Amino acid sequence: MNFNEFLNHLSNYEPGKDIEVIAKEYGISEVIKLASNENPFGVPPKAIESLKQNASKAYLYPDDSMIELKSKLAQKYKIKNENIIIGAGSDQIIEFAVHSKLNPQNAFLQTGVTFAMYEIYAKQRGAKCYKTSSITHDLKEFKTLYDKHKEEIKIIFLCLPNNPLGECLDADEVLEFIRDVDKDCLLVLDAAYNEFASFKDEKKHLEPYDLIKEFENVLFLGTFSKLYGLGGLRIGYGIANTQIINAFYKLRAPFNVSNLALKAAVAALDDEEFVKKTLKNNFSQMQLYYEFAKKHGIKTLQSYTNFITYFFDEKNSIDLSEKLLKKGIIIRNLKSYGLNAMRITIGTPYENEKFLTEMEKILKK
Ligand SMILES: *Cc1c(COP(=O)(O)O)cnc(C)c1O
Repeated sequence: MNFNEFLNHLSNYEPGKDIEVIAKEYGISEVIKLASNENPFGVPPKAIESLKQNASKAYLYPDDSMIELKSKLAQKYKIKNENIIIGAGSDQIIEFAVHSKLNPQNAFLQTGVTFAMYEIYAKQRGAKCYKTSSITHDLKEFKTLYDKHKEEIKIIFLCLPNNPLGECLDADEVLEFIRDVDKDCLLVLDAAYNEFASFKDEKKHLEPYDLIKEFENVLFLGTFSKLYGLGGLRIGYGIANTQIINAFYKLRAPFNVSNLALKAAVAALDDEEFVKKTLKNNFSQMQLYYEFAKKHGIKTLQSYTNFITYFFDEKNSIDLSEKLLKKGIIIRNLKSYGLNAMRITIGTPYENEKFLTEMEKILKK
C-alpha cells in the first residue's frame, strides 16, 4: 500500500522503556526508571485523592469546556480562560501548532539537539527543518538562520530549558530575540521544565502573562507530566493570544482529555507541598550526579531541569545503557540524537544511590 509520501521521511519517536516490560524481559523484580523525566515521588497525594473520588465518573464524557482547569490555570497565571487550550499532553498542543502553520512550502527552526517531537510533527506536514549547528540554543545562530530564511520559517521552537541537554536561555534574551521576529512566525516556547529552571535561577523564569501581553505570536507550553507527576494521564496546556487559541480549537477533537485527568490536574496544582519537595530533592540530589561525573571524567552541562546528561568520550553510551538495563536501571540513551551520551532523570535518594553505585561498577570494568 502507498502512504502519504511525507511518511517516508519520518522515524518513530523512541520512548523511554516501560518498567513492567523490562522487569518481565530481564526477569528482575526491582526496576528503576530514570528515563522519561517523570516525577520520582509519583502522583501528588492530592491528585491521588481526586482520582479515587472521581473514578466512578469515568463512564461520563468530560466537560468539554474544561472550565475548572482553565479557571485554575487562569488564576495561577493571571490570564483569561480564553487564552488557554488543554491538550492530551503538551505534545498535542505542539501538534496543533505545527498543523496550523506548517506545510510543504514552508519551514521551521530549532536548535541542533532538542525535543524530537517538533521535527516529527513538522515532517508529517512535509515542512522543511532548519537546525542550528550548535546543539544547545545559540540565539545568534537562530537569528542568522532566521534572517536568511525569513520568508520560509513559520515556526521557531525554543525549549526552555532544553530536553535532552538541560541548558536554558535567560528569559530576557529570549524576549529580545522574539522582538526581531516577524509577527506571522509562531514562537513556541516549550516550558515543560521551566518550573525547575525558575527554582534554580529566576532569570530563566517565563511568565505567560508578560509573554502574551507583549507578543501576539508566542505560544507558551506547560505540562503536568514532569513536575506535577501526571505523565500517565496525558495532560498539558498551551497559553497564547486568542487568535492562536481559536485556530488550534479548529484542529482539536472534542473530549481530547479525560475527565479524570482534568480533575487530577486541578488537584495537582493545589499540592504545593508535593511540588516543593520535588524541586528541593531534584536540585540537592543533582549535586551527587555532578560529583560523580567529575570523579569519572564524564562531561556534563549545567542542567536547569529534572535530569542530567552525561557525555562520554571512550565509553559507548549504548553499551553502558545495556549494562545498566541488565541491572534493572532504565536511563535514556541519546544515540538517536546522534550523541554518545545518556540522559538520566534525577530520582529519589534511594534510586540515585542505586544508579550511581551500579554505574561506578560498570565504569570500572
Ligand atoms: C515531556 C515534554 C513535553 C510534553 O510532554 P507531555 O507529556 O506530552 O505533556 C514537551 N516538551 C518537552 C521538551 C518535554 O520534555
